[in-house]
Amino acid sequence: MALFNKTISAILPFVPRTLAKPFASRYVAGETVNEALEIIRKLNDKGFATTLDILGEHTTSAEKIESVTQAYKELYDKISEAKLDCNISLKLTHLGMGFDDKIVEENLTQVLNKAQQHDNFLRIDMENSPYTDLTLNLYGRCLEQYDKVGFVLQSYLFRSANDLENYLGKKLNVRICKGIYQEPPEIAFHDREEIRENFISLVKVILRNEGYGAIATHDIYLIDSLETWIRNKEIPRERYEFQVLFGVPMKGRLEQLRDAGHKVRVYVPFGEEWYAYAVRRLKENPNLAGYIIKNLFTKRSA
Ligand SMILES: Cc1cc2nc3c(=O)[nH]c(=O)nc-3n(C[C@H](O)[C@H](O)[C@H](O)COP(=O)(O)OP(=O)(O)OC[C@H]3O[C@@H](n4cnc5c(N)ncnc54)[C@H](O)[C@@H]3O)c2cc1C
Repeated sequence: MALFNKTISAILPFVPRTLAKPFASRYVAGETVNEALEIIRKLNDKGFATTLDILGEHTTSAEKIESVTQAYKELYDKISEAKLDCNISLKLTHLGMGFDDKIVEENLTQVLNKAQQHDNFLRIDMENSPYTDLTLNLYGRCLEQYDKVGFVLQSYLFRSANDLENYLGKKLNVRICKGIYQEPPEIAFHDREEIRENFISLVKVILRNEGYGAIATHDIYLIDSLETWIRNKEIPRERYEFQVLFGVPMKGRLEQLRDAGHKVRVYVPFGEEWYAYAVRRLKENPNLAGYIIKNLFTKRSA
């Protein structure tokens, strides 16, 4: 079965978008803002906070960067109008980082002004290591002007413990995740247990100091260990939240966390660029391939 799933997940990126769509719809909240907001509403009604991301990265035209910036600003307006429990996560390469690093700062400022106008929050996602310094430097400059802005550290990077030390303080708001990109062994842990150990250590450093930590993982071992530690240390609920990606099966664990009084936030991506995102999710979890094929088959024969 494992080989079957691996083979299917290797082939699926080459299937036409129409065939990939049933798979993508599990992970992506549609192509349009309205579709996404409907899903956000449903998640809010179930007691989950949310963060919205417009899919896309590495934008390489000034016009497109301008339209992405505009779309993020309008998204804050729409979230406010609909009174949703929802903030925004974005990737700086989507706003022009790597294409024109001056433009990205101007655009980020525009988006942050809009967030501030609505008293909402912006999370800057972390991309692969060529962008780590650029992202952290820009985040540092944002912190001088804005309170409601956060960043992300990846527990697979050796440098993350040092990076965290540099930002400790009341204003700190950091998401800890394992890291999704392929990084070389010179700069990153590759051993699953080392990545986990560093994840736990980073979260504990945040919560022993000041600031806010977002614990972003589907790894039940990490969720259980940190939930127990948080309970034993009596860490106040306002200091942290758990985060997951929309559509990843969690077997009821999210509802348990919610019912135990923890804040749980779902990261909800949407937009026209769903195909690349869905393929990336599939590569992460080849076990899903069997499930997708079953779904496709069932739909066709129905
Ligand atoms: C809210 C959130 C925000 C993130 N932001 C960033 C970011 O800014 N930068 C970055 O580099 N990475 C980000 N990530 C991705 C993260 O770094 C990991 O690559 C991803 O979460 C998988 O690691 P894991 O901790 O869930 O553990 P894993 O050990 O990979 O997974 C634990 C379990 O969950 C299942 N699982 C995990 N992911 C999926 C999936 N997509 N589909 C189906 N099953 C899955 C696995 O099969 C496994 O059973 C984010 C993740 C989350 C949850």
